[in-house]
Amino acid sequence: MNGYGGSVLTVDLTTGEGVKKPLDEKLAARYLGGCGFGAYFMNRVVDAKVDAFSPDNALMVAPGLFVGTAVPTGGKTSFFSKSPLTGGWGEGVMGGRIGLSLKQAGYDMLILTGKAQKLSYLLINDNEVAIKSAEHLQGATTRDTADAIKEDEGKDVIVAGIGMAGEKLVRFAVIDCEDRQSGRGGIGAVMGSKNLKAIAVRGTHDIPVANPEKMYRVMAEAYTKLKESPAFQDDGKYGTGEFLEWMNKEKGTFPTRNWREGVFDRRQQIDPYYWAPRFAIKNKGCVQCTKPCGKAFVMEKFDGSLDGIEYETLFSLGGNCGIEDVEYVARANELCDLHGMDTISAGGVVGLVMDLYENGILGKEDLGVDATFGNGEALLELIEKMARREGIGDLLAEGVKRIAEKIDSGAEAYAVHVRGMEPPAYDVRGIKGMALAFMTSPRGACHLRSGAYALELTGKFWKFEGVDRLSSRDKGYEIAQMENFMAVYDSLGVCKFSRGIYLLNFADMLDAVTGKPLSEDELVTIGERICTLKHIFNIKAGWKREDCRLPEKIHRPIPEGAAKGSFVSTEEEREMLDDYFAARGWDRNGIPGKKRLEELDIAEFME
Ligand code: SF4
Repeated sequence: MNGYGGSVLTVDLTTGEGVKKPLDEKLAARYLGGCGFGAYFMNRVVDAKVDAFSPDNALMVAPGLFVGTAVPTGGKTSFFSKSPLTGGWGEGVMGGRIGLSLKQAGYDMLILTGKAQKLSYLLINDNEVAIKSAEHLQGATTRDTADAIKEDEGKDVIVAGIGMAGEKLVRFAVIDCEDRQSGRGGIGAVMGSKNLKAIAVRGTHDIPVANPEKMYRVMAEAYTKLKESPAFQDDGKYGTGEFLEWMNKEKGTFPTRNWREGVFDRRQQIDPYYWAPRFAIKNKGCVQCTKPCGKAFVMEKFDGSLDGIEYETLFSLGGNCGIEDVEYVARANELCDLHGMDTISAGGVVGLVMDLYENGILGKEDLGVDATFGNGEALLELIEKMARREGIGDLLAEGVKRIAEKIDSGAEAYAVHVRGMEPPAYDVRGIKGMALAFMTSPRGACHLRSGAYALELTGKFWKFEGVDRLSSRDKGYEIAQMENFMAVYDSLGVCKFSRGIYLLNFADMLDAVTGKPLSEDELVTIGERICTLKHIFNIKAGWKREDCRLPEKIHRPIPEGAAKGSFVSTEEEREMLDDYFAARGWDRNGIPGKKRLEELDIAEFME
């Protein structure tokens, strides 16, 4: 099958048995790959009501359709499982080579069920599948795990694994492959619950494409466009954090000190315009990327080189914790990567703890540290504790929602999450479309399922213009369409940082790769099908309209800066949701009807 590995591999970790089945061509046409396959197979394989840590939950890996082709920035792979953090749809996308290797081994979808008897790793060697002991890797960092497995199995094996946090079932543990992470919502913990330390894959086959000549011509054009884009220049020099100053000064929407403020007054050192020229030694990128936005560092305070700090992390471990010293932010980021923890959630937790500390709800006797905002040493210590579930870390590893519920004493008023997910770096009080996107995202507060922040903040993108970020009007159609748009990107495996360049003009690329071009309208319909299936999974898991609530802090005005005075009222919250459900063709409670499912050709999921 052109563009595909051609098979679906299911491995029962309890028995060690692997079953390989051919990929259904009609299925591929309806879902493309990546998150499309995830939406289909999660609904087919996983009982949505199952406990996330039960062996009956599945862990799935699906490379995007363009993985292994020459599409620039088209190397993304998605991971799926029921989320232990939100209790619903779990999904993460990464740019490590694990998906490429899987596809070269012949697989477009890997489904792991059951639980290994002891800590193990799964080795896939083209057609051969083996479960091997990883007991000697207990507690090892993500990097050491990959190195050790490569040492044993060969340097050409690609490894995706977990660190301490995944083993300890930290509810926001991630999976790491080559310093690229995936798994917001704790998919790394699901991997740990299966006694699986890593997946190691050697794939040796070429991926067939329909028209190689056309592919290289079309890709050369795409590469030129990417290279000429301003994003290529800015991301290359300063990484994804290059717009940090703009978010603070021009927009006033950089959440600070656990969302007390929308402007970080001490941001000078965490701004990449300060640190990149001083500390960065080289650029780092995902597989297939021609505009790498990652950075590697050498800093003074902490020994050795460090992995780059993304925009989201400059917020979560920087401004959200009031940390102005970028070396502490970089070290905290490194600890999260090595232990395999999501930096957004980890920073959300530390920000909450610091807020509770300053408001007298938690004390030094509870935490063992002076957790005032801005204390870098406290940040590092709390991260170590949560990764190991040591002392107070056992509670912190549960995530913001559960921490607030357990502490009680009014802690809920300080807890910033949507359906259990700690939000990313967009103060949605001043970006109202994103407030809706946080509520409607299938994995809880998330910027990437819609990517609507860029549209909201600039006022125009794709088919939208004149969008007012401070208004809550007409956001339903906008967010629904942006979610469909992004689902296409995640099914093709294209990096969202290329969205301004490609938009949905993939017909030529698809023609070259699969021989089947698809128009923008056809792609949007596929995107809607995928989004609806993710939502159906959540409904089966118990999702209700009442769960789509914004945190209390979002109902209070931003105190200063360019968005001063802006907030989202409960009435706006309700109206935006009504508008969104109507745009989706769902009823007032957010339930899709038979007719809409039939129109999307997914009536088979009516149950
Ligand atoms: S632009 Fe950045 S995130 Fe996107 S593929 Fe390249 S390195 Fe990865």
